[in-house]
Amino acid sequence: MKPSALDYLVCNACYGRLSLEIEESIVLSEGKEPEILSGVLKCLSCKKQFPVRSGVPRFVDEKRSSQQNLETGQRFGIAWKEFPRLAASYRDQFYDWMYPVDAAFVKDKIVLEAGCGKGRHAQLIAEAGAAQIFAIDIGEAVDVTYANVGHMERVHVVQSDICQLPFTQVFDFAFSLGVLHHMDVPAAGFSSIVNCLTSQGAVCVWVYGRENNWWLIHLINPVRTLITARLPAPPLKLLAFLLAVPVWAGARFVARPYMETKKKLGWLPDLFYGHYLSYIGRFDFNEIHHIVFDHLVAPVSNYIPGEEVAGWFAQAKLTTPIIRWHNKNSWTGFASRKAPDTELMLSRVARAVPSGNQRQI
Ligand SMILES: [Zn+2]
Repeated sequence: MKPSALDYLVCNACYGRLSLEIEESIVLSEGKEPEILSGVLKCLSCKKQFPVRSGVPRFVDEKRSSQQNLETGQRFGIAWKEFPRLAASYRDQFYDWMYPVDAAFVKDKIVLEAGCGKGRHAQLIAEAGAAQIFAIDIGEAVDVTYANVGHMERVHVVQSDICQLPFTQVFDFAFSLGVLHHMDVPAAGFSSIVNCLTSQGAVCVWVYGRENNWWLIHLINPVRTLITARLPAPPLKLLAFLLAVPVWAGARFVARPYMETKKKLGWLPDLFYGHYLSYIGRFDFNEIHHIVFDHLVAPVSNYIPGEEVAGWFAQAKLTTPIIRWHNKNSWTGFASRKAPDTELMLSRVARAVPSGNQRQI
């Protein structure tokens, strides 16, 4: 934890200001902020205390968080510890999910990542020149994030429930990719994130869609809930490996070439799940192994209709949301509290909409 984080963090029980008692800190390099490895944050109003452990301030109160969300955080903590690598392919994938947001958009902004996993996106946001980036997660994933990006300037890693964020309206931009659908009430997570935006702030989310995912909902979901979400890491990793072999081969050697040919010829019929498989066909085997593990490890996965995602944005009274069908199996949404930002984004959408993502709500 960096001392400058105190300019933004507040008590997540009463929004009071916090004081910090430092127990152990280190200076990583001359002229840079020290890293506080351990200490205690104390609320000046309600006197609640929050420990700083292993460099990370910890705001999760197990009595206040839903059991399901805690369990999800714990399971994904396992996933990120098994797959901690930051791959080069994440950059393209990240800006694809975030589209129409690009690196220029996040420059100089104060940014929140709600559900940071291993820190792969926080790293990209920091590299894009964000003024500050707060990467939060409910589970022990924060330890992987801290190991990966905690040393970076302006990056703050915080353990917190998305529904009880230790912030007031301080963020110019907040995003949450692949996280809300694993919460017991995704809409509550979205609303909590939006509540941390400034009066001109923007938000971007990516969630699993209900459309086209009947096979995941009816065939994979029951197996995951009853069996794989309860398996310890080693057998689950082995199972994911065995399943990843045909997925990787099918995506790389069948779906990707087929969809490329279809793009050229135009008249070929659609391949089942072709857009998504072709999309992941560019990843190496390790990443496919991780994706399969990710799908099997989660105790909760909600598949959300596009209309429902649009409803979150409407309810939050955000300006001109852009809701896009992504790879014909998931939804991305972007909106701002301030009209000019959204107009800029819409002009970018008009210039170039990636193939397979044309459907908008
Ligand atoms: Zn308080």
